Amino acid sequence: MTYDLCIIGGGASGLYLASRLANKNVSVILCESGERLGRKLSATGNGQGNVTNLNISEKNYFGSVSVSDKLLLNKDLLSVFPMLFTADKLGRVYPAGRQASALTDALRRIVTTASNIEVRLSSKAVRLESGFVIHLQNGEKIYADKLALCAGGKAQKQFGTDGNAYAMASRFGHKISPLYPSLVQLKTPTDKIKTLKGLRANGKVKATQNGKVLGEAYGDIIFADYGVTGNAIFAISAFVSGKENVELQLSFLPDVAEKDIAESVRKKIELGYERSELLSGTLNNQIGRMIMKTAGSTPEQIASAVKNFILPVLGTLSFDYAQVTKGGITGEGINENLESKYAKGLYFAGEILDVDGECGGYNLHWAFSSAAVVAEAILRNKRDI
Ligand SMILES: Cc1cc2nc3c(=O)[nH]c(=O)nc-3n(C[C@H](O)[C@H](O)[C@H](O)COP(=O)(O)OP(=O)(O)OC[C@H]3O[C@@H](n4cnc5c(N)ncnc54)[C@H](O)[C@@H]3O)c2cc1C
Repeated sequence: MTYDLCIIGGGASGLYLASRLANKNVSVILCESGERLGRKLSATGNGQGNVTNLNISEKNYFGSVSVSDKLLLNKDLLSVFPMLFTADKLGRVYPAGRQASALTDALRRIVTTASNIEVRLSSKAVRLESGFVIHLQNGEKIYADKLALCAGGKAQKQFGTDGNAYAMASRFGHKISPLYPSLVQLKTPTDKIKTLKGLRANGKVKATQNGKVLGEAYGDIIFADYGVTGNAIFAISAFVSGKENVELQLSFLPDVAEKDIAESVRKKIELGYERSELLSGTLNNQIGRMIMKTAGSTPEQIASAVKNFILPVLGTLSFDYAQVTKGGITGEGINENLESKYAKGLYFAGEILDVDGECGGYNLHWAFSSAAVVAEAILRNKRDI
């Protein structure tokens, strides 16, 4: 049998694409290499599933694929899920029950009960031929008129995403931009911060490259033996991953005026405090002492050091720790329907493309919205025949 469409990858984008085609006049086979569908989707948002953000715009995305409003602003995106969603004060949207597995279960139910969709688990695609012929690892061949490559990126290979599918796209002439881990811990020199290992501070992180501001993030900054982690660091990593000569500027009291910090230091000097104790009570003692090792001597210089603690970025931890892949199949080879310009009928959705989003639901939003665009193109095409 020749299917109308073969979807490779049963993760967020592949499952979502299949769900948009459920019970439509198109025969679909979905091949997932793992034993279960949606393994990574079930682990998202610390198990709570941060599906989208109320503030979605092109500005939240990086990469060479043009992420237009058409791709992003699909008002019906979450209507496929039979559940309620709520947003937190940062605009991050979650299922009201705060369980990512509910998202996977909902998509799995739609897809596995649809009359037109066949799901194959433990079915890894290893080679593609034009036409399309999909060669599975077990030697089986699948024939399909159209093909959607939804095999994800390289982040956290325990979810089946080891980057194997990029080579299958290259086979059709697609270029792959350099791949970097993103939404990930950052490596920094540890000489200044080694006394702080395990300590959590709340603050602002600004990333700069040769004086130019790349981005800012607020939240937890956690010190580790390789550098820094925490939600502010994950967020800022989207701006710095893959770049050279980047510095982090940590502000431990972002909402307090520098003159007020200077004033409290001045009072302590008048009271005869030791230099190492001048920030006690203002900051965590260990952080205060660490800052005092390099700060200047005047209250103003000390206050400035509290707001501008510099850590150069040496790199990131590996893909094993990252939430997403920066880089992927580049934009020049695909059209606005995310169809290949080199192989008609070959579509892409999700993280395999050279698109990555900021922290806060933007990556699942991309997985779903890109899949929705592919689904519409396939249905339109079917009607036109
Ligand atoms: C721990 C963690 C937490 C995250 N939290 C969030 C969050 O809260 N919000 C958010 O927006 N984003 C989050 N992300 C990112 C988000 O999960 C991904 O961007 C999204 O899942 C990408 O969807 P995808 O369909 O492109 O790839 P995936 O969901 O990774 O799915 C790809 C699928 O393809 C399969 N596959 C690979 N190769 C083959 C092959 N050759 N043949 C057959 N099948 C194959 C894989 O087994 C996998 O199931 C998180 C990521 C991680 C790792």
